[in-house]
Amino acid sequence: MNRHWNESSWITEVRANGVSVVAKELGFDVSRQGVSPCPACDATQRGGADRRGPVGLRPDDNGWCCFVCDARGDAVTFAAYHVTGEARPHSEAWRTIRERLAEVDLCESEDPAKRNPWSTLATRRHAPQIKREEAPQRPSQAEVNALWDRCVGVTCDDDASAWLRSRRLDPPDVEDLDLARVIGMTTDLPWWARFRGRPWTGSSHRLLVPMFDSTGNLVSLHARAVGQNVSADAKGAHPVGAEVRRTVMADPLARLLLAGAALADGRSAAEFVRNCRGGLRSPSGFVQCGLFVAEGVPDFLTQATGWSDADEDAPAVIGIVAGSWTPEIAARVPDGTEVVVATHADDAGDKYAEIIRGTLVPRCRLQRWRVTQTNVDREEAQ
Ligand SMILES: [Zn+2]
Repeated sequence: MNRHWNESSWITEVRANGVSVVAKELGFDVSRQGVSPCPACDATQRGGADRRGPVGLRPDDNGWCCFVCDARGDAVTFAAYHVTGEARPHSEAWRTIRERLAEVDLCESEDPAKRNPWSTLATRRHAPQIKREEAPQRPSQAEVNALWDRCVGVTCDDDASAWLRSRRLDPPDVEDLDLARVIGMTTDLPWWARFRGRPWTGSSHRLLVPMFDSTGNLVSLHARAVGQNVSADAKGAHPVGAEVRRTVMADPLARLLLAGAALADGRSAAEFVRNCRGGLRSPSGFVQCGLFVAEGVPDFLTQATGWSDADEDAPAVIGIVAGSWTPEIAARVPDGTEVVVATHADDAGDKYAEIIRGTLVPRCRLQRWRVTQTNVDREEAQ
């Protein structure tokens, strides 16, 4: 028994829910046919002709066992495998496991500020969610930097190159601008570099895109699945237990802009962006901008590589996902900048565009493009 299991009330509370409730709240398929996938080995069936979920539950709902990999335990072990890939992770990881369970109201958060005052043990899972603006959970910055440093260029890897080319992206361009890198198959990974219990090297999440905070620090990594047999719900991954909100993708000029730094020739990045009139062919004609905001990894990489090195007037390119844009990031954009916001032509894309508009107008001029699905996107959706 792990010593963290002794007399800890949150652990008692999680266990009291039973394995089936914990698995269900964590997003697993739970039925009389078993639980799927296995939180340890990621198998989705028992194998052969047996289509049942790989994980069987004890009749009293206090224990489980995987018929594929033989992993077993109680409700807390199930959560530990799900969040960290291990039954007995090191002590730091338990905090992350607890926070993940607290998010779905299976126990109380360790952080008093995150506790839901309306929630009691009996009502917790049905209590309203209160949204607060706490500091987001991030992986250790030293570990993020160390992993990024151990990665190799995208042109060194066939699967990553093929993924980029399938989106009409040029691997050497991506590599030259250092917009993404690849994890080698034998690279040592930090404990949070896992997807559904498997290390990113095992789950094919090997293409990494760096995520920056509002001051241009590399604070997280978005991992993209490359290679054969990537299922539609497994395209992207983030560090276990970490949040992506308040982080953005950024091309080299945007990184300098966020950092408040200068270009190689000494001009400030902010001054350059303010005066930049990079020309773009838009659906409604030719427009010029100093900052281009794209939504999602493929669109970001497409725009960030869409300018030649010789182009004196290439704008800064920022890529956003849900929760990325903040007033702090907006504050890095100089007054008078011409901004193009090219989010998707759907409800989420409209919402992101409104959030960005609210932080930049009227001090910047903003044009919205509603990006409709390209052939490349349709391919990806299949
Ligand atoms: Zn298993």
